[in-house]
Amino acid sequence: MTLRIPFDNSYARLPDALFTRVAPTPVTSPTLLAWNAPLAEELGITGDPDAATFAGNTIPDGADPLAMAYAGHQFGGFSPSLGDGRAILLGEVIDRQGIRRDIQLKGSGRTPYSRNGDGRAWMGPVLREFVVSEAMHALGIPTTRALAAVRTGDTIQRETALPGAVLTRTASSHLRVGHFEYFAARGDKASLQALYDYAVDRHDPQAKDPLMFLKGVIARQAKLVAHWMGVGFIHGVMNTDNTSISGETIDYGPCAFMDAYHPQTVYSSIDQYGRYAYDNQPQILPWNMAKLGSALLALLPDPEAAIPDFTAAVHAMPDLIDAEWLAVFAAKIGISAPRTEDRALISDLLSLMQAGNSDFTNTFHALLTDNARDQIADREAFTDWTLRWHDRLASEPDAHALMGRTNPAVIPRNHLVEEMIQAAVAGDMGPFETLRHALSTPFETPEDARLITPPTKDQEVTATFCGT
Ligand code: AMP
Ligand code: MG
Repeated sequence: MTLRIPFDNSYARLPDALFTRVAPTPVTSPTLLAWNAPLAEELGITGDPDAATFAGNTIPDGADPLAMAYAGHQFGGFSPSLGDGRAILLGEVIDRQGIRRDIQLKGSGRTPYSRNGDGRAWMGPVLREFVVSEAMHALGIPTTRALAAVRTGDTIQRETALPGAVLTRTASSHLRVGHFEYFAARGDKASLQALYDYAVDRHDPQAKDPLMFLKGVIARQAKLVAHWMGVGFIHGVMNTDNTSISGETIDYGPCAFMDAYHPQTVYSSIDQYGRYAYDNQPQILPWNMAKLGSALLALLPDPEAAIPDFTAAVHAMPDLIDAEWLAVFAAKIGISAPRTEDRALISDLLSLMQAGNSDFTNTFHALLTDNARDQIADREAFTDWTLRWHDRLASEPDAHALMGRTNPAVIPRNHLVEEMIQAAVAGDMGPFETLRHALSTPFETPEDARLITPPTKDQEVTATFCGT
């Protein structure tokens, strides 16, 4: 049956300054590597997936391909002009729940925003994003999703020659903080207003003014980062162009899940100073929200007068994140209604884990079966901790069920992701399917023990590279 995507495009109707119409660049011999049938169903897509469409060789009926304009603060410095340099929005669909979703190709060729880039991606980051974003979704964490992955048959040049690929991803929108910065920096108030009206309509129809809108983004991002912390996720490039308005995780570049718990863990090879280390993530978001706030101020007739309220909204964010963090981590130890003093209980456990090089995921998961003792080096201190913990759980009858829902057994461990990529490049999609399958039910212990075993020193991946 021929593929049919029920496009209903809205971004393409916005003023010209917001994007550039551009078609994907065809590739030599596309083959489908992966297809997400349940997601296709959710989006109302019917028919058989064809590699030509998801490689950008065939433009599906109803698509209106375009590249979006945006800016961004990258590692603290402002780049006034970034934009979709290797991504092309095919269009949007209204999903089965009535929610508008973007369908975007990533790695589909050059656009007017490519600067010196080739507009391409190779199989590694494409399959990494496929597996990790779908894992994130199964963990219950807001994220963009992966619909298809295609191998292009072309070779692309990075440090070495690598097999090219295209990812099709969906998002409740691809709007980023950087979209607002782009127009604010140019003093293009009309486009900024059009963008704002669009974003309000799509993400926060009840927001009555830019301040309320900002507070909405802050609330969503506060929740998101607390969720990341709870599963040991390190985004790796939390630049404002990679911070979504929707509150979804976006741009899986050098991201990784921690194995052993160390708060200052960094994987990204380009994050020299650890700006986006695990423990810094909650501090970075208020900084990013301050950038959004500054851009939104330009919408107001008297920006100066609004500064105190905007500043207060941003300054309130650390406490908001803290409350979300407490809720997430309390749940991980079975506490549904956290009290302030639970903070000490949680941080004492984390300290024991840190001191003993404990595996983050396995330690929390072992609490479910009272086997965490094996994960902690200081047994005596852990016994004391357990006594306090059991005491506290006396008033939490549903602790076990709560912990079962919040402590995954399986996460996309780096060494397994790397292994999966190497196999796929060599033509074996087996490890990809195995990982994908196990990660679709992350709270269930998979049969294959390798999937839940931390890496040995030799297997450990210490650096991840940007998707470029
Ligand atoms: P990222 O670090 O992946 O979020 O990308 C930052 C910016 O660089 C975005 O504007 C991307 O579109 C652009 N970019 C990254 N890789 C490429 C590439 N291979 N070709 C063109 N543009 C790229
Ligand atoms: Mg990006």
